[in-house]
Amino acid sequence: MEKTIDESVQGTALSVENKASNDRKLYIESYGCQMNFSDSEIVASILAKEGFNTTNVLAEADLVLVNTCSIREKAEMTVRKRLEKFNALKKDRPQMKVGVLGCMAERLKHKFLEEEQIVDMVVGPDAYKDLPNLVQEIDEGHNAVNVILSKDETYGDVAPVRLNSNGVTAFVSITRGCDNMCTFCVVPFTRGRERSRDPQSIIEEVNDLWNKGFKEITLLGQNVDSYLWYGGGLKKDFRNASEMQKATAVNFSQLLEKVALAQPRMRIRFSTSNPQDMTLDVIRTMARYENICKSIHLPVQSGSNRILKSMNRLHTREEYFQLIDNIKAILPDCAISQDMIAGFPSETEDDHKDTLSLMEYVKYDYGFMFAYSERPGTLAERKLEDDIPEETKKRRLGEIIALQRRHCQERTEQHVGQIQEVLIEGTSKKSDQHWMGRNSQNTVAVFPKENYKIGDFVKVRMNSCTSATLIGEAIGYSKNN
Ligand code: SAM
Repeated sequence: MEKTIDESVQGTALSVENKASNDRKLYIESYGCQMNFSDSEIVASILAKEGFNTTNVLAEADLVLVNTCSIREKAEMTVRKRLEKFNALKKDRPQMKVGVLGCMAERLKHKFLEEEQIVDMVVGPDAYKDLPNLVQEIDEGHNAVNVILSKDETYGDVAPVRLNSNGVTAFVSITRGCDNMCTFCVVPFTRGRERSRDPQSIIEEVNDLWNKGFKEITLLGQNVDSYLWYGGGLKKDFRNASEMQKATAVNFSQLLEKVALAQPRMRIRFSTSNPQDMTLDVIRTMARYENICKSIHLPVQSGSNRILKSMNRLHTREEYFQLIDNIKAILPDCAISQDMIAGFPSETEDDHKDTLSLMEYVKYDYGFMFAYSERPGTLAERKLEDDIPEETKKRRLGEIIALQRRHCQERTEQHVGQIQEVLIEGTSKKSDQHWMGRNSQNTVAVFPKENYKIGDFVKVRMNSCTSATLIGEAIGYSKNN
């Protein structure tokens, strides 16, 4: 099946086991990418030290925070509606304070406080450590704002509290910001320049998660393959690093290997990969370690060389095919997924056909597909006319989704008849008699519960499937258990 941003989790209020000594209540809602959900765990951790317990009951909150996304206009509209609702609630609960976090906070900055006056606090993605001061400001009746982007903040020293966790899978953030400057994308403006987190603190977090019973982690970043640790600082400043720093620098394939070796029974995933930065070393490291899952999220955005150039994606269609061929040669059972944008400025029917033919070549396992949404401040907004009519964008997006659906079905069917390791994450949404988990390729599998439990690694015989779900039966524990 096609995937859109997981609507079921958008706007989820996150809550966690509470500290008895804390006497204030924090309601925190998150929108957008996995990075935002991961950031909310950092925010909850910082505020737990300030006397806040999380709640998912809005009516009892002292502080309401919305972690926001700016990637498309629709995402911002959803948040605005929520803020209007919170603002209305404040009439009955004047002591309740409302804050905006994340990308929309960074993009709109003081505008929220000055023109719109619907929030008390505005905090950008690099300013969460300032929350104790900002909360004090609003407690004293002032508005508070910090949207300063940082050169080195990675929150490597903050142990995130795991909100709404299944206790089995967790995100571990490894880079922040993005240097790519794709012309459609607002991220470099809202999350700042790219910097990487100290590998030691990453390994410590992974070890800690294993000790707490977690069995799978996803290393997170806008462009994980660009990870580069040389003692701290922006990626773009690496060229000025000392010879010693350059000689001892850690790149993504080295980090991946360190993590795989640190916890050999922990499953490791990573997201997102950018084609221009994904090296053969990374693919070979994936092949060397069984615990690195065989699944690569490799957004391409378009199949047309002309559009890729206009998007400032720094690779061609042919180079992308070369990368796909390498992945298929080295990791024949690896799943590949995509992000695609339909209706980028000036996109012709021929460009769109190139996208469909690229999809036919790769046959992606799944994808996240979007109609182009012009974002203020991006290079595309400043230099290109948003000239594709909405109905054309929609029709092209529909064709992309239909093709993806067919490929997804074919990909899922390929697993039928095999015995594969599945990590149990929870009860199936459709039947409380069945477990739900994923194979290494990230395909969902369901099977009768028997005596297995959440967090078990189980060998499952895949008997049949729907378009995106494998249906099987457990035949024993896998050797990972
Ligand atoms: N860093 C990743 C990359 O560059 O491939 C993903 C970044 S973004 C958070 C997730 C996806 O949102 C992108 O891959 C792209 O498909 C989509 N997206 C970003 N900006 C968009 C826009 N202006 N209109 C429509 N979709 C957009």
